[in-house]
Amino acid sequence: MFDKILIANRGEIALRILRACKELGIATVAVHSTADANAMHVRLADESVCIGPPPARDSYLNIPQLLAACEITGADAVHPGYGFLSENARFADILDSHNIHFIGPKAEHIRVMGDKIEAKRTAKRLGIPCVPGSEGGVTDDDEAMRVARDIGYPVLVKAAAGGGGRGMKVARTEGDLVHALQTARTEAKAAFGDDAVYLEKYLEKPRHIEIQVLGDGRGNAVHLGERDCSLQRRHQKVWEEAASPALNDAMREEIGEVCAQAMRDLGYLGAGTIEFLYEDGRFYFIEMNTRIQVEHPVTEMITGIDLVNEQIRIAAGAPLSFRQEDVKIAGHAIECRINAEHPVTFRPSPGKITYFHPPGGLGVRVDSAVYQGYAIPPHYDSLIGKLIVHGRTRNECLMRLRRALDEFVVEGVETTLPLFRALVRNPDIQNGLYDIHWLEKFLAGGGMGDDAAG
Ligand code: ADP
Repeated sequence: MFDKILIANRGEIALRILRACKELGIATVAVHSTADANAMHVRLADESVCIGPPPARDSYLNIPQLLAACEITGADAVHPGYGFLSENARFADILDSHNIHFIGPKAEHIRVMGDKIEAKRTAKRLGIPCVPGSEGGVTDDDEAMRVARDIGYPVLVKAAAGGGGRGMKVARTEGDLVHALQTARTEAKAAFGDDAVYLEKYLEKPRHIEIQVLGDGRGNAVHLGERDCSLQRRHQKVWEEAASPALNDAMREEIGEVCAQAMRDLGYLGAGTIEFLYEDGRFYFIEMNTRIQVEHPVTEMITGIDLVNEQIRIAAGAPLSFRQEDVKIAGHAIECRINAEHPVTFRPSPGKITYFHPPGGLGVRVDSAVYQGYAIPPHYDSLIGKLIVHGRTRNECLMRLRRALDEFVVEGVETTLPLFRALVRNPDIQNGLYDIHWLEKFLAGGGMGDDAAG
């Protein structure tokens, strides 16, 4: 096992990793930018190192500084969390060449899944069902037209290097397509420095359903069921739940086993998520994330399995601590991503939290790194905490969530709490009747009212 882990991240996920390390008896090193000197992860770690000025490229993405921090503190492994360097194969390679363990998949698997065209090709080869689309990237417009005619409009132009929903354009007609190709390429070039794009059939009313997997790199792999992340704004997840209101046990077993078998064949190591769109009873692979995800607690709540603990153990060379038949899914869990943003305009609202009272009680978990008196810096994402609630049934979970949201008090900054209070009371949400476009329509239709911020 590792003696000391350096956590190359900040915020709630840094705290989440720190907790897993402590429970494993492993010493921790926090790193931080000058903007985060007072952050909770710095306070709770055994040691901390300042790695640069506020902009992430100079600190949390600064590989030489992170290496120096490992060197100074004698850390023998690095946990990257999510975002920042978590899916950077070069970082994994560099750590390896310095005999420091990267807590994550093999660099080759990060690389394959990081390129969405390559990822789709690999998924197909492994027997995972994919969205119909171009075989690889599309370079000229004529070829794109041919593919689009083949799969049928509407089509979606997507960036090979995509992430965070950027570089995606819908085309409903041939006329749209030329324009969509051009804007997607320009956006992709600007955001990722790579203008490669590909085509996919645009699904009109899918749900986003993803499967959590764990592999030990020795051919053992399991799935831990699904998460339904269909409630999205600008392709960003807002609310995640498990089990999906759209699946039954047999469907879960079937798609889960397809994913677990694919990971066995790949020799996958670590935690991963295989993301699908789901429409009319069919699954379509869109991408694989080779890291721990923001919404992982939902799975932890229904399986009782500590995913970060497993990540650390597996990276240290231990085999999986359980088999597929040991995984028991119990009850229902929902996560709300609470941001420091205006609940109607979604304008970021950094600043000082003057009062903070998180909810508690049976089945309520708050993963957050903020505290009363903490000043949210303007340099990073606006997530201030995740409220995760578990109940024996979906109904119990919804009632508990409603109660927990009503208890939650954050003052000094705007938050998206009012949005969740509205969602939990909405009949469509209560009945589980929503697809990936539901939330945008709800917001556009004035679902939050004009003065819901109060
Ligand atoms: P990113 O890596 O940018 O997050 P994804 O491929 O994961 O991109 O897609 C993000 C979201 O975009 C999905 O959850 C879904 O809402 C939407 N999306 C992606 N592909 C399609 C498609 N073929 N049809 C309809 N919506 C899609």
